[in-house]
Amino acid sequence: MLQKVLLIHYHEMSLKGANRPFFERILKDNIQKALPKDAYTSCDVCFGRIMVRLTEGADEDAMRERVRAVCGIANFAFASLLPYDFSLLSEEVLGALATREFTTFRVTARRADKHFPLNSKEINEQLGALIAARLGKRVDLEDPDVNCHIEIVGKNIFLYFKKEKGCGGLPAGSGGKVLSLISSGFDSPVASWKMIRRGCEAVFVHFHSYPYTSQASQENVREIVRALTKFQYRSTLILVPFLEIQKTISTAGIPEGLRVVLYRRFMMRIAERIAVREACKALVTGDSLGQVASQTLENIVAISAVTAMPILRPLVGENKDDIIATATAIGTAAISAQPYEDCCSLFLPDHPETKATIEEVERCEAKLKTEELIALALAGAAREEITMEQK
Ligand code: ATP
Ligand code: MG
Repeated sequence: MLQKVLLIHYHEMSLKGANRPFFERILKDNIQKALPKDAYTSCDVCFGRIMVRLTEGADEDAMRERVRAVCGIANFAFASLLPYDFSLLSEEVLGALATREFTTFRVTARRADKHFPLNSKEINEQLGALIAARLGKRVDLEDPDVNCHIEIVGKNIFLYFKKEKGCGGLPAGSGGKVLSLISSGFDSPVASWKMIRRGCEAVFVHFHSYPYTSQASQENVREIVRALTKFQYRSTLILVPFLEIQKTISTAGIPEGLRVVLYRRFMMRIAERIAVREACKALVTGDSLGQVASQTLENIVAISAVTAMPILRPLVGENKDDIIATATAIGTAAISAQPYEDCCSLFLPDHPETKATIEEVERCEAKLKTEELIALALAGAAREEITMEQK
C-alpha cells in the first residue's frame, strides 16, 4: 500500500521572503488544529509545501471540509507517495489508473527537485507513452478525463488526480488581533471572516439589550462565533450590556433621528477601550456604504470621529447579494436568517437622520454623562472563550 498524504500548496505566503518560516509555522499549526488527531501521523513543511502523512483509512471527505476552512491554503490534493525511481513509480501509476474508468488522460509533471534523472517534459512524454501503450488510453492535453499529476519535491514524489481549491488568504493568527463588532445580522460575520482570512485573529464584541431583548438573541451571536471559530480554532466573545445607554439616549430629549448615530458612537468608544485591553490594533465592522441609515458617508464620518483607532470595514464596497453568498459559503447565513431581536432597533424612529454632523451629535452628547455610561457598560461586560468543536 502506498502512503497516503495530504499535500498542501500556499502561493501567497511563499512570496513573503524572510518571513516565510513564520507563516509556514502558523499554517502548519493551524492544519494540525483543524484535522482530527487520529487522521495523521506527521505534518511537515516540505520545500514550500506542507505534507501531512495520513493514517490508513483516514476519512478524506471529513478532512476535505476542514482543510477548506484553513486560511492560507491556495490548493490541496490527496496524494500517494511514490517510490523515488522512474520504473517503480511508473508501475504504481499504471496500477492506480487500472482501477479508474476513463478514455483520455494527460500527465502533468512538476519537478521542484532537479536531482531526479528525468525532467518534467521527459516524465510527461515517457509516462504518457507507457499509459497509452499499456492501458490503451488516449492523450488529451486540453480536456482530459484524468489528469495524472506527478510532483517531485526533494526526495518525495507525489501522485494525485485532483487538485482542490483552498480558501486562500493568509494563516489565521499571522497578522495580529482585531476587535470585531458582531451582531447576528448577515454582514458583521462576513466582515470578521474576511479579516480572519487575511491572517487576523478576531476577538468579538457584542452589545446586547438584555433583559429588554431575550437570552436567545445572545445565543444567536454565540452560534455565529462558533461558526467563525472553525476558521481560527478558538475565539473570545465579549458581551456588553447596552440597554442603559439606549434608555439614557432615548429619554434625554435628543432628536430621535440621531439616536442610531449616538448608539454607534458609544459602541465605538466602548469597543476602543476593550480593544486596548485585549491588545487588538483595530476595530472591524460590517458596514457597507449606504446599506442602511447608519451607513451613509456622513454618518460613518460622525461615528468614526470618536476613536483614533483604525476602523476596518471590509464590506464597505460590497453589495448585499455578494455578502449573503459569502455568508452562505462560510456557514453563518442560516444562523443570521433566524429571527433575532437586534439591540439597535430598540427605540429607533422610522426615519433616522442620514446626514448627521459631528457638531450636532456633540451638542446632543453634551447632555449625557458619557464617561459614566461607558464605565457602567464596561463593568457589566462578560468574557467567554469558545473553542472549535472537534467532531
Ligand atoms: P449586520 O448585518 O452586521 O448586523 P447591518 O447591516 O444590520 O449589519 P447595522 O445594524 O447598521 O448594519 O450595523 C453596522 C455594524 O455595526 C455591524 O455590521 C456591526 O459591525 C456593528 N453592530 C451593529 N449592531 C451591533 C451589536 N449589537 N453589537 C456589536 N456590533 C454591532
Ligand atoms: Mg444589524
